[in-house]
Amino acid sequence: MGFLADLLQRLKGGSSQSGPRPQVGFTTDDGQALWIYLECENCGEHIKLRLRKTSEIQRREGLDREEGPGEFFIRKTIIGSRCYRPLEAEIEFDRRYQVIASKVKNGRLIPRSEYKGEQ
Ligand SMILES: [Zn+2]
Repeated sequence: MGFLADLLQRLKGGSSQSGPRPQVGFTTDDGQALWIYLECENCGEHIKLRLRKTSEIQRREGLDREEGPGEFFIRKTIIGSRCYRPLEAEIEFDRRYQVIASKVKNGRLIPRSEYKGEQ
C-alpha cells in the first residue's frame, strides 16, 4: 500500500494505528518466531499468529526500505475460524522485533494481555 492510500486510511480513522516508538507487549518472541495477536473487527474472534523470523518476517532492504519505518515487516492475510472474513495485516517491526506500526484491515492488533483466544 502506498503513501496516499496509507494517508487516506489514517484520515478515515478506523482500524489503523501507528507510531514511531516501539509498542511494547504486542509480541511474544520464542527465539525462532514471533507471535502476534489479532482481533477480528467483524465477529470479535481473537487470533494468534506465529511468524517465523527466517521466512515470514521480511527485512526492509533495497527498494522496500522506503516503503515503511520498520527494520522488518510482514504483510499477511489471516483468516479466522469464526466468520472467515480476511484480516489484512501490515506490521512494521524494529530491529528487536518490537511493533512500531501496524495497520490491520477488518481487525486490529491487540496486546498479548488482551488476547483471550486459545492458548
Ligand atoms: Zn471474524
